[in-house]
Amino acid sequence: ALTAGIVGLPNVGKSTLFNAITQAGAESANYPFCTIDPNVGIVEVPDHRLTKLTELVQPKKTVPTAFEFTDIAGIVKGASKGEGLGNKFLAHIREVDAICQVVRCFADDNITHVSGKVDPISDIEIINLELILADLESVEKRISRVGKMAKQKDKEAMVEFPILERLKEALENDQPARAVEFTPEEAKVVKGLHLLTAKPMLYVSNVGEDDVQDPSTNEYVQKVREFAAKDNAEVIVVCAKIEEEISELDAEEKEMFLSELGIEESGLDQLIRATYNLLGLATYFTAGVQEVRAWTFRQGMKAPQCAGIIHSDFERGFIRAETVSYDDLVAAGSMTAAREAGKVRLEGKDYDVKDGDIIHFRFNV
Ligand code: GDP
Repeated sequence: ALTAGIVGLPNVGKSTLFNAITQAGAESANYPFCTIDPNVGIVEVPDHRLTKLTELVQPKKTVPTAFEFTDIAGIVKGASKGEGLGNKFLAHIREVDAICQVVRCFADDNITHVSGKVDPISDIEIINLELILADLESVEKRISRVGKMAKQKDKEAMVEFPILERLKEALENDQPARAVEFTPEEAKVVKGLHLLTAKPMLYVSNVGEDDVQDPSTNEYVQKVREFAAKDNAEVIVVCAKIEEEISELDAEEKEMFLSELGIEESGLDQLIRATYNLLGLATYFTAGVQEVRAWTFRQGMKAPQCAGIIHSDFERGFIRAETVSYDDLVAAGSMTAAREAGKVRLEGKDYDVKDGDIIHFRFNV
């Protein structure tokens, strides 16, 4: 299962946010594919389509889909040199599939800032630089090895060498690996290098309680947005402290709390959905009278692979995927009406499943 790592300097609110995640979080028993690990929090993906499908189908049970966040504490300046157990933390980052970088955007004189003052851009630069330095070291090691093989006319090495050179140049200019453009074949080689700065990243601006209603007045958030725009990265604004409080409420209380604040969706829910997209994940649904359920697949998966997420037998014996898009089903009002309107397609093994598809798999046993 794919996981997103929460990183950030000390005292920016990572643990508070992670607490909110685990308290709001799903029981791992319901999600057998998820890891049981104190550093892993399972979140259910908020999806209004699931609510609507439940209204339409009236099933006995509704099951949302979930994925994992991993808490990666402890990155500090000098981590790439092994300071403060730095290398260990970088190794943890290597294992995640996307990075959520928490940035302190709240002023609070009682809470020490590691650099002495609140300065989100400088914080981001510290972290990004550590990741870049770690990658630069990996790339340089690889260059010395692959360079020798390329001289001996090793075919793969001759392909990889110029890619490494380009990565090195970018990293030396403080650019992350993800900023370098590669062809799909080159991208495969880059993927094999497991670079930290090749992972997709978003920024989480942690604001104070006073800024939740209108974060646009927070100058730190503005700065983070400007910075992130250069990297085409998304910024999600949360108040970790409030999220921690919300996570203790049940669904109804939560809705009341948010409407009192005049907020439609909690920052954490926004973060969950943005991270899901960042990981390249998407959702299809199964909808029967027993159960309406959301399933996570990787964008680009074909119908048989998606069937395999439910059960490997479904993939092996795959015949057809009876598919209707969410919008078509809602417009028709029921599965029967959608079928009568010719909106239910019979898709074969080459079908690229789309986010929001409602699918009934037909298979041989
Ligand atoms: P970490 O070191 O990044 O894990 O940071 P923590 O989550 O432990 O937070 C450090 C301190 O900042 C704690 O005292 C938190 O209560 C406080 N804190 C975290 N988020 C907020 C926030 O949104 N507003 C305020 N005022 N304090 C916060």
